[in-house]
Amino acid sequence: MRRPIVAGNWKMNLDLAAGRDLIASIRAEYATAEPVEVVVCPPTPYLFPAAKALDGCEIRLGAQDIYYTKSGAYTGEVSAEMIAETGADFVILGHSERRHTIGHLEDDRMINLKAHAARRAGLTPILCVGETLAERDAEKTLEVLTFQLTAGIVGLDVSGAKDLVIAYEPVWAIGTGRNATPAQAQEAHAHLRAELRRLIGAAADNVRILYGGSVKPDNAGELFAQADVDGGLIGGASLKADTFVPIIRAAVAAAV
Ligand code: PEP
Repeated sequence: MRRPIVAGNWKMNLDLAAGRDLIASIRAEYATAEPVEVVVCPPTPYLFPAAKALDGCEIRLGAQDIYYTKSGAYTGEVSAEMIAETGADFVILGHSERRHTIGHLEDDRMINLKAHAARRAGLTPILCVGETLAERDAEKTLEVLTFQLTAGIVGLDVSGAKDLVIAYEPVWAIGTGRNATPAQAQEAHAHLRAELRRLIGAAADNVRILYGGSVKPDNAGELFAQADVDGGLIGGASLKADTFVPIIRAAVAAAV
């Protein structure tokens, strides 16, 4: 059985004090023995203080990106090894904002290099894939997912749950308040699972596939109840304990 994940992507939000307060509130609510893996992904400068704030509890730390080389003349970039030294276990890769919005406009080749770098440093990549609204309207969703998944994990050795996490994040649902319906999410996740089976065989059953895109306390339960939805990658609603903790609870309820 796959252990669901609820991961909070803080993006470029919160300051140090607010981040510490949020971690303290999540810690106060989240009991360590629960069947869901909780991850917080603060901005890079807050990884070390966040690791300190998480000391002694089972909530995990993730980064929002890495660069793919170990070191060198790459001003402003941070390597997977540097991120691993902060105590992080996860790294988000190929987020739609990095693919489509931020100056870098990352392509699948770059994302694949980063996935290899993450594994080299012992980090679990959370590989984000998802179609734009134009691609969905053109009925290209499954084709886009197959391409991004296949290209993203080329050459990656995947056998256990720590080797890879996928996040299905339809671009039109991120930060828009418009979530995929549970049926749309399940269709995409089942497709990704089937494609993973084709690519990596039986290990596909170990890979957690998270849904991301306007997950809130009131829609989390029905999304997480879908057979191939193994938790969520949460943006806006991860910034407040009042919304993040009920989403964790929804994942716990779906898991038991
Ligand atoms: C995200 O940024 O990964 C995300 C899912 O954002 P939101 O929950 O705000 O749609």
